Amino acid sequence: MQFIDLQSQYHRISASIKSRIEKVLNHGQYIMGPEVKELEATLATYVGSKYCVSTGSGTVSLEMALRALGIGPGDEVITVPYSFFATAEVIAIVGAKPVFVDIRPETFCIDEDRIEAAITPRTRAIMPVSLYGQMPDMKKIDQIAARHQLPVIEDAAQSFGARQNGVHSCGASTIASTSFYPAKPLGGYGEGGALFTNDEELYQKFLMLRNHGSMKRDEHILLGMNARLDSLQAAILLAKMEIFEDEILRRNRIADFYTRHLSAICTPPATTPGNVHVYAQYSIKHPKRDQLQSLLAQEGIPTVTHYSRCMHEQPALAMLGHKAEDFPTAFTCSRQVLCLPMSPYLSEADQEKIVHSIQRLAKSL
Ligand SMILES: *Cc1c(COP(=O)(O)O)cnc(C)c1O
Repeated sequence: MQFIDLQSQYHRISASIKSRIEKVLNHGQYIMGPEVKELEATLATYVGSKYCVSTGSGTVSLEMALRALGIGPGDEVITVPYSFFATAEVIAIVGAKPVFVDIRPETFCIDEDRIEAAITPRTRAIMPVSLYGQMPDMKKIDQIAARHQLPVIEDAAQSFGARQNGVHSCGASTIASTSFYPAKPLGGYGEGGALFTNDEELYQKFLMLRNHGSMKRDEHILLGMNARLDSLQAAILLAKMEIFEDEILRRNRIADFYTRHLSAICTPPATTPGNVHVYAQYSIKHPKRDQLQSLLAQEGIPTVTHYSRCMHEQPALAMLGHKAEDFPTAFTCSRQVLCLPMSPYLSEADQEKIVHSIQRLAKSL
């Protein structure tokens, strides 16, 4: 059994993948080929955003979002202490200060009601994370942002495909950033990411930042970088978009099965009414998480701790001067959350084995 099964998906769509790759190999435009534009148009339409700019990764997308907004030294950006490290890393990398707001225990996303207290005259953006595949209350966040005239950057690395009251993740904020890392809901066969916005000026900046600050040959308007998505990755992602909605349904069926069988013995993840969850991770909470994880491993069931250490506990962010207990909900989640095997192709036999093992083992703890 694998934690995330990527091969079954490949076997399902190998004909389409191969023919699209073959096309790229034949036309030879390996950088900024027609597949890149086609993918951007497909993704923008899918999420209901005016512009999409594909990039080299989710991390570089987040950094580009901050740089396009002119965020740097002396600025503060509000985000969560419980996410993949890249979220806070990029804030510090551009020279700004990550200001953490604790999460809600039932959604693992930012506690919207605590955002306003963290805003200072130096705050330049709010960067919520749609963790595990579900959006926080974007309407509430937008209202707070509007009151303080702040842009919202959705870190949607784990939530491409998610919805909230009909509005798509990546189409719900000033800027959104996603990732095509293979294990994400829409994953490629390598690195990749994308930025979304409805703002023409930000769109132009993304285009320039992605390509050395240049819009035409030998003219560099600003200092950018190389953050382009390969044509081959774009071709692969186009093939995967054809089955993406079906995969979200499959993920939800598996999540429902897990929740039905596990809610009596551990805390299953909650979906906020109005949300479509894409289950990048299916995350249970158990007070004896580490013991449960090693017992499951002995039975051949792979699980992962996303994340066993919060941002504010990381040595690389020691300059922020936080104590472990500064964000108690994030801290507790980091010690109790266990992510179960999840992919659209997890077999029924494996699903049953997982819930039966957890039911039996959890009793013994
Ligand atoms: C994966 C991830 C990123 C980084 O994306 P990469 O494509 O791996 O650079 C950023 N934020 C979150 C929440 C992620 O899960």
